[in-house]
Amino acid sequence: MSGDKESIKRMADMLKSGATMLFEHCPQCGSPLFKLQDEIRCPKCDKRVVIVKAGEKIPDFSRSELLSSVETTVLYVLQEISERVRGEKDVLKMEAYGRMLAMWLDVLEKVKKRQQV
Ligand SMILES: [Zn+2]
Repeated sequence: MSGDKESIKRMADMLKSGATMLFEHCPQCGSPLFKLQDEIRCPKCDKRVVIVKAGEKIPDFSRSELLSSVETTVLYVLQEISERVRGEKDVLKMEAYGRMLAMWLDVLEKVKKRQQV
């Protein structure tokens, strides 16, 4: 597709001129939208996009909500796993649980890092 190269160039140009990438996607083509000053544009369709949802702070709000919901889930899973480890006698299974714990702790750490941003 020749249009792809064009849109990538437009994206780069927008970023160079200080545009920020949004969490919203173009309703037409699904590519990420960019905001420059008060204008939201789709680099692929090369046109202005009006986001129907009110307010400009939607990403922050829904993002922090999502993260805290993920955090709750991860904490729940961690608790579940550690309870199972306690009742486990099979060392091989314990090892598997250990790997799971490490993986979920890693997820938790990533969520926490994102919450600080
Ligand atoms: Zn588009």
